[in-house]
Amino acid sequence: MSQANIKQDINSIGWQFDNSYIHLPESFYVQISPVSVRAPQVAILNFALAESLGLDVASLSEETAALLFAGNNLPDAAHPIAQAYAGHQFGNFTMLGDGRAILLGEHLTPTGERFDIQLKGSGQTPFSRQGDGRAALAPMLREYIISEAMHALKIPTTRSLAVVTTGESVTRETMLPGAILARVAASHVRVGTFEYAAKTGDVSAIKTLADYMIQRHYPALKQADNPYLELLNSVMERQASLVAKWLLVGFIHGVMNTDNMTISGETIDYGPCAFMDDYDPNTVFSSIDYHGRYCYHNQSHAAQWNLARFAETLLPLLHPTQERAITLAEKTINLFPDLFQDYWLMGMRNKLGLFTKETEDINLAKMLLTWMQKNHADYTNSFRALAAEDFPEGDLFRNKEFIEWHTRWQARLSRQENSKQSSFSLMQANNPALIPRNHQVEKALTAASEQGDYAPMQQLLMALSNPFDDITEHNNYRTPPSPQEGIYQTYCGT
Ligand code: AMP
Ligand code: MG
Repeated sequence: MSQANIKQDINSIGWQFDNSYIHLPESFYVQISPVSVRAPQVAILNFALAESLGLDVASLSEETAALLFAGNNLPDAAHPIAQAYAGHQFGNFTMLGDGRAILLGEHLTPTGERFDIQLKGSGQTPFSRQGDGRAALAPMLREYIISEAMHALKIPTTRSLAVVTTGESVTRETMLPGAILARVAASHVRVGTFEYAAKTGDVSAIKTLADYMIQRHYPALKQADNPYLELLNSVMERQASLVAKWLLVGFIHGVMNTDNMTISGETIDYGPCAFMDDYDPNTVFSSIDYHGRYCYHNQSHAAQWNLARFAETLLPLLHPTQERAITLAEKTINLFPDLFQDYWLMGMRNKLGLFTKETEDINLAKMLLTWMQKNHADYTNSFRALAAEDFPEGDLFRNKEFIEWHTRWQARLSRQENSKQSSFSLMQANNPALIPRNHQVEKALTAASEQGDYAPMQQLLMALSNPFDDITEHNNYRTPPSPQEGIYQTYCGT
């Protein structure tokens, strides 16, 4: 096909670019295009997501789709940039920025929703530092699987539109096939973007960014007496809700650095993340998280710590006198633990089929978790097993402590007017049957990236798109790993 035809095809799939980020001061980004790759090929396309965005990706030939999502041929209305940001990584401040990603622009869906379209693994930028600007295939497919699974689990997240292989190798510990992920996000502005603005020492830069984020994600706050304090409150609210949702499905992000926390409240940057099998609050997956800073149960503390860094950047906007600004920020951030617990408890009540509130509910939930931890019970399967009329099957549950807990829970259910059936329906809608279990994900990734066999990944994705239903054919995905299959670390961060 001629270059002109390729361009015409790419332009005609329904792009509605309306790029607003480029109107921020120039210090916020660098204009730069993706570095073309040698031989792009489609690994996977998300037709359903494309359709919901109003993009007719299905009309493109595979070759053209590969050229598009590799960044070799861009739509005319794209305005490619690399975003500047900073961040606290494991507690240490660093200047960062898109070292291997290019934002093509903001696309408006047919219903007027605005989404960033970004290519990750698209070559070096001025922010690449020592990095090659590239990504390996398995980690990009991993982000695809986990982000799409999170979406199906009703957890706010960036999404994955496509993965293409580049026909080039990347050098990590070994040579690996290179790939690019097309990522869709409400926006890519992070706590670290505010830290970057604050680091410039220019208060007007912080104000511009804050106003931009209010306009884009929290427009109702424009009318508030103190919009910036309300911005802090609102971001905190969304993060408390988000991290509670993570815990409720057993998700561990793995790298909760401030550059990996969005202002929109979406989960972002799936590196060494994973879902827990056996319940253990100390679970860590990341091989670089030596001290368990981001382990399962520390995630709410990490979120609060990150939000405190966010609050610091907003101080000059919160109040003209610094002392008063600090008091306001501290007061707000100190509300986080209760806010988080409220969201978590609300989710736990749903998981336990409770429609009403009793003060003892929190202990009822915690007793169950303590029992799970002591008995190495599978977190997902144990909750799912409760959502039925009959006493759960299996030796695990023929245990004095569990039987006592079950009696107490049954008594609690009886104290509400709702039928048992309605409790079970509530539980089935809140206790997934399926999560992306690490041993299954790794198997699918090995088949795809080492044998070029995408069938296991396609089957896994299909199953994960429907996590709350009991579907017999998907039962194999519900089995926890055998001791040999248990994978405790993921090295997929880069
Ligand atoms: P991450 O660990 O993916 O959140 O990335 C942290 C920072 O490292 C970001 O600024 C990335 O753009 C940058 N980075 C990660 N991998 C690479 C790479 N291969 N080449 C250049 N920059 C990278
Ligand atoms: Mg990151």
